[in-house]
Amino acid sequence: MKEDLRKLLLMQDVDSRIDRAQAEMDEIPRERMIHERELEEQKRQFEREKNKLDEIREESRKTEGIKKTTEERLAEFKNRLLEMKTNDAYRAMLEQIRFAEKKMSDLDSRMIEIMYEEEDAEADLEDARKVWERNMKRFQKRQEILEGQLEVLSENMEGLQEERREIAAGMEKRLLGKYEQLRSTGRGLVVVGLINGNCGGCLTGIPPQTAVEINQGVSFVCPNCGRFVVWTDDSSLAGAK
Ligand SMILES: [Zn+2]
Repeated sequence: MKEDLRKLLLMQDVDSRIDRAQAEMDEIPRERMIHERELEEQKRQFEREKNKLDEIREESRKTEGIKKTTEERLAEFKNRLLEMKTNDAYRAMLEQIRFAEKKMSDLDSRMIEIMYEEEDAEADLEDARKVWERNMKRFQKRQEILEGQLEVLSENMEGLQEERREIAAGMEKRLLGKYEQLRSTGRGLVVVGLINGNCGGCLTGIPPQTAVEINQGVSFVCPNCGRFVVWTDDSSLAGAK
């Protein structure tokens, strides 16, 4: 019996290490996903800034075009001014010229604004590009580290699985079945110590005679929670009732 209980504890220890290794392995794809989302968002931000700059440049081109046409018309108006035969026609042409000059002045002001907007947008785009690229490099390095970690963890896991198979092979089938069944309920430890005369899992009091038997290595299953209660370094007969 003592040997079986020892194996149960060994099995539980290996399973705890398997659980920890598995949790660490699960953490890796999670971390990757977080990084990928971050990069995706930074890429979108870069694209947004690029679109903004493209729109500003497009407006700059259009405004330049309108300026050119307006300039040509203005020159034409000025030429025709000299050909005007009546005062009314002359005044009307002058009015057209003033109107075109006002338009030119507005377009010049707008061009200056656009120039500043373009400078700002270029700086924003450059910032977005730097953030994105820096993070890409950082993630690449992190990715290499994670791959290394995963490799170590996988090897470690194989070793643990091998260890588990060896322990399981030496265990009594019924005991192993009971252990697996208890473990599958997800209540944490299957094998617990006798602590201050209580089941270390659910704290149900254990009769003194049973405590003595547990001390002698007799297999005992807690009637309340179904866990195996064993003697550990922290166990004592004191407190048993
Ligand atoms: Zn219990």
